[in-house]
Amino acid sequence: MAVMTILKYPDERLRTVAKPVEQVDDALRGIIEDMFETMYGSQGVGLAATQVNVHKRLFIADCSENGNEPLTFINPEIIERDGLHENEEGCLSFPNVYAKVERAGKIKVRALDKNGDTFEREAEGLLAICIQHEIDHLNGKLFVDYLSPLKRDRIRKKLEKEARLAAKLD
Ligand code: ZN
Repeated sequence: MAVMTILKYPDERLRTVAKPVEQVDDALRGIIEDMFETMYGSQGVGLAATQVNVHKRLFIADCSENGNEPLTFINPEIIERDGLHENEEGCLSFPNVYAKVERAGKIKVRALDKNGDTFEREAEGLLAICIQHEIDHLNGKLFVDYLSPLKRDRIRKKLEKEARLAAKLD
């Protein structure tokens, strides 16, 4: 297993639209294992393949309290949504940035698991938010896209400044 590099905003590769996975095989499962190591190592609750520069329709999540419920979603599709909820979100591609985003409160998702079998799952609360956030990533969409251009610009400047500082320290 290996920790992967997480792309940070405003890296343009985060805007890539991911392609459907055609085959769930050992190579893909290897990527998934590395993604879990990367996500858990960063204290994240979700990670889309796009964020580690793999442009396949795949994301992982673990929204459980104890971090012991790893979930894999391949070629995910939201087939039902219900209600609206505003929640504060963060993202591993936006270190220390949090913002309120409105999303469906309850959803039903259909996807393939890591064995290539189709499953459906209903979700609410943090997992529902997470699934919607990660599917956005696969479409090249970011949570700051829901904010005003002014707020988004402020976040971009903050992250660019931090990246410059980090580069100097390296
Ligand atoms: Zn994210």
